[in-house]
This record gives sequence, C-alpha cells and structure tokens, in this order.
Amino acid sequence: MTHHGPSALSAAEARARLEEGNARFTSARPAPRELGEARRHELAEHGQHPFAVVITCSDSRVPPELIFDQALGDIFVVRVAGNVLDEVAMGSVEYGAEHLGVPLVVVLGHEKCGAVKATVDGGEAPGSIGAIVERIRPAADRARATGATGEELYEKTTDENIRQVVAAVCASPVIRHLQEHGALSVLGAKYWLSSGTVTFLD
Ligand SMILES: [Zn+2]
Repeated sequence: MTHHGPSALSAAEARARLEEGNARFTSARPAPRELGEARRHELAEHGQHPFAVVITCSDSRVPPELIFDQALGDIFVVRVAGNVLDEVAMGSVEYGAEHLGVPLVVVLGHEKCGAVKATVDGGEAPGSIGAIVERIRPAADRARATGATGEELYEKTTDENIRQVVAAVCASPVIRHLQEHGALSVLGAKYWLSSGTVTFLD
C-alpha cells in the first residue's frame, strides 16, 4: 500500500462539499456522476483520495453516497447499525484519516434510528445485537436524565450517541495527533429522513 499525501481539501472545504452535495440531493438535482469505465480505471491506477470519512448507520434509508451526492472515490464509509464504533471500525476510521490523509471525519446519525429505538425500549437483544445496544446505552441514559420521553427521548438519545461517537473518535491517539497538527476535523451530524437534510451539530 502506498502512502498518499494529505487531501488537497481543507476540513472546511470538505464540509462545504458535503453540504453542497446534500443540497443537490434535497433539491433532487444530483450532479452528473462519474461512475463509468474511465473513472474506474483512473481510481484503480492512481488510488483513492477520498475527502471525508463518514461513519454512519447501516439503515437502508441513509446511504451516504446518495444523501451527499458523491460518486466513486469521494467518501470513505464506515457503516454499522447505530453508527457505533468497535475496535475494527475505529481502525477503519484511523486508516482513512491517517493513511489516506482525509481532512474530515463525520459521525452521521439519523432520525428514527432502529438501533437507538431498540436501546431505549430495552427488552431482549438476541445474538450479537446486544453489542450494539451496549454501546448506545450510555447515550440513552444521558438522554433519559434530561426528562425526555417518547419520540423526544429517541431523538435525544440519537444526538447523544452522535456526540459520544465523536468523543470516541477524538480519543484515538492517531486521530488526536492529526488534530493537533491541524490536519483533521471531527464533526457530528444528523440526517432527517423525510426532508433528506443533513444538519451539522456544530
Ligand atoms: Zn440507524
């Protein structure tokens, strides 16, 4: 594997590119997509230079390439139910940030997340689903402490979970090192299913 230099974009430019892509998505005016043979060959020959790492949920309603209107080679995606991180997922984030030189990591939660709802509702989590619920539970506890109930509790838990995952990313020594050198920003964001809008938390 070759080590590529940092992305040509700053974190602010990378965020603007995602926001512009989401605006195209919500206005149903996607940019012409480079998905053809020429682009595939270019990427295969010259390697990938994605401009953002996106950590998001496996939910089929939240495909990051579509909601940010991006094409091949644009975003490095880590996708798991509830957008939680285990060691393997964290390694993927570190690879994108450190090895590929991506300037921006986005933790993208979403409205009406099933993994969040399962955590808040409690009950049985069969098989390995419990491993997801365990990771979201501290966020649910903090949301519940605000006195929120019903839909508000689900959404507050989602927001707390986004912040919690941002904090977990920032706790990585690899990520912290890049942040200290001004080479990386880590942001939380939320996707709204009906409107198609992504709102950044900060
Ligand atoms: Zn979800």
